[in-house]
Amino acid sequence: MRRFIAGLAGLGMLVANAPALVIDIDYTYDGGYFSLNPAAKAALIQAAADVGNAITSTLTAVPGDIYNGEFGVDPMDPTRVKIDWGFDFPNPSNTAVNVTVPAFSLAANHFRLYVGAEALPAGSPELGEGSGVGFSEDVSITNATEGEFPTAMNNAVAASNAGMRRGVGPQMNLINTSSTLGGTTVNYTLQTGAIAGVVTMNSNANWHFDINTNPAPLESDFYSVALHEILHTLGVGTSFTWDSQANGTNWSGQNAMTLNGTGTNLISTDGGHIAEGTMSTSIVTGLPQEVAMDPTLTQGTRKTITQLDLAFLRDLGYTTIAVPEPATVVLLGVAALGLVMIRRRA
Ligand SMILES: [Zn+2]
Repeated sequence: MRRFIAGLAGLGMLVANAPALVIDIDYTYDGGYFSLNPAAKAALIQAAADVGNAITSTLTAVPGDIYNGEFGVDPMDPTRVKIDWGFDFPNPSNTAVNVTVPAFSLAANHFRLYVGAEALPAGSPELGEGSGVGFSEDVSITNATEGEFPTAMNNAVAASNAGMRRGVGPQMNLINTSSTLGGTTVNYTLQTGAIAGVVTMNSNANWHFDINTNPAPLESDFYSVALHEILHTLGVGTSFTWDSQANGTNWSGQNAMTLNGTGTNLISTDGGHIAEGTMSTSIVTGLPQEVAMDPTLTQGTRKTITQLDLAFLRDLGYTTIAVPEPATVVLLGVAALGLVMIRRRA
């Protein structure tokens, strides 16, 4: 999980004919925050649309939560191994409490985003947090003979990985485990892709919600933070694929290395962000801007997605828009000060 913080003013959102990735926002656990704050909701929806429009991958459909592997000579009563998946995540309006939901089906190119807001202590520098959801899996074995078990188990694993990995994009989780029947142990690897994420916004922050105006000097821009947290939910700083390319503060992914010139010290000291203060070019305004995915947002400023943020998405296995969308509006505000800090939860 990563939390965020406080940018540059600039209005103008991405516009595309149809989002390549559809982020379905789920308000089940929002405690009413977004229905009571229509401007916050509008900023969240815009941020989700802008991220979705920037990603052009074709994520395969998720069929559901149960993956069966069968093997045996009796087609009516074969050896069966069943993998039941569940998702768990902190309730986004009460993060001390975990929510567990059965895994669900998703259409191709859809991603589910659980959202909420929680009052953090006054003065907390944290503006939001975002991550993918956690997973749990339960393996059951029925009607098994020990000899048939390995094939049935491996068939179940193959079905699960085909369903949960989504083909492309980051590996959010990579689980090495084993199951045993009698004296036979099968080791296997379960993979999950970008399926769902959770974002909590700090309801105590001095927010600027309106996406059509610039934040005042002491305000934190809600759109900018929502954008940042949503990118976390898709694996930036939060996935196995990220971790496999981050070595301390160095980055080995080719797309970001090439664009930036080097991967050395391209990662923040917290390991989950682009290095603090890294500059790139906004794909919305075409102007120089601090990347969306460094750890902080300066009050009174707005961030949009930059070319370097997109390069990191490509290093995570997504395809992204290759040509910047034309800016719809360009407004450059006076940068105000006030860095906010971020903390990180594993
Ligand atoms: Zn963050």
